[in-house]
Amino acid sequence: MGAEFEFIADVRSRVGAPAGEGFLGIGDDCAVWRPTPGSDQLVTSDLLIEGVHFDPATISLHELGAKALTVNISDIAAMGGQPRHAVLGLALPGPPDAYRALVEGFVAAAEAAGVVVVGGDTCASTGGIMLSVTVMGEVPEGGAVTRSGARAGDRLFVTGSVGDSAAGLALLSSGGEGLSATAREILVARHLRPTARVREGIALGQTGAVSAMIDVSDGLSQDLGHILEESGVGAVLEADKIPLSDALCEYAEGAGLDPLEFALGGGEDYELLFAVTPEKQEMVTRMMADSGLAAIPIGRMTEAPGLRLSRDGREVALVARGYEHFKS
Ligand code: ADP
Ligand code: MG
Repeated sequence: MGAEFEFIADVRSRVGAPAGEGFLGIGDDCAVWRPTPGSDQLVTSDLLIEGVHFDPATISLHELGAKALTVNISDIAAMGGQPRHAVLGLALPGPPDAYRALVEGFVAAAEAAGVVVVGGDTCASTGGIMLSVTVMGEVPEGGAVTRSGARAGDRLFVTGSVGDSAAGLALLSSGGEGLSATAREILVARHLRPTARVREGIALGQTGAVSAMIDVSDGLSQDLGHILEESGVGAVLEADKIPLSDALCEYAEGAGLDPLEFALGGGEDYELLFAVTPEKQEMVTRMMADSGLAAIPIGRMTEAPGLRLSRDGREVALVARGYEHFKS
């Protein structure tokens, strides 16, 4: 058997053969499954390119495989969906045998999320490692939470601290002298081994009270900017309410930097950012607390367009910042 087919056989053996009526996974020309009756189907896709999204010197193959799935699952979560199936496209610069850990990480993350790997493609790369991941998910019919439903007056929430991943990335390439080992580990882990807020997304979607939602992948201010644009509203963020981890504050203080800069402009936190109609705010807050999930109020939507930051009793206009491709 050639290296490509040996590799695929290895992937197939790791994934196993999940049962299910009409289900066909790896091994045929297409995968086949039956959608849950009464559900809408979600699909999302992300590319991860060596040198653009990751540096193999700072992330292990196992972590890379897991992260490639997690960033896609996060998009399903951001619509209030349950991720169900994944497809893994791989372009590999060397013999595929050397990349088994990547598949291991991907499959481990899939199992942990209840996602079945149903197919993919494997080919040689003349450049670096490239991963193309597609995840399919489901929401109850009509229940997908979009970016476009926010209205002026809605309250804005986030599911956890932001800025950690960007600080972790910075730490991978530069010292962070004097920083405690614990803080360093927390920040780097959030960058290399992110979590998608699937339970949060589903719980929020089920309330029917979330008017808009997005996952924080490119930076809080930039991702909020997408909600504002799609919803046709503005927003005010309360600087002192934005959740910053102790680890981020310790790092920023030691480096003489403003932790809020990391929170607003740093990407890859994979927290959910969402808007709630004011009358439902209490209900949503209570439901999340009862489920042991975090929902931290950080601002509100406004009639006036644009993004503003309220800090030390002053409101200043905020330019959305974050990661963007093809930026010169
Ligand atoms: P085809 O020639 O039809 O593209 P392949 O030989 O590429 O078929 O793939 C055979 C089977 O293995 C298909 O079910 C495909 O989805 C699966 N597969 C190939 N590469 C991967 C991968 N990297 N991860 C998961 N499944 C894969
Ligand atoms: Mg193929």
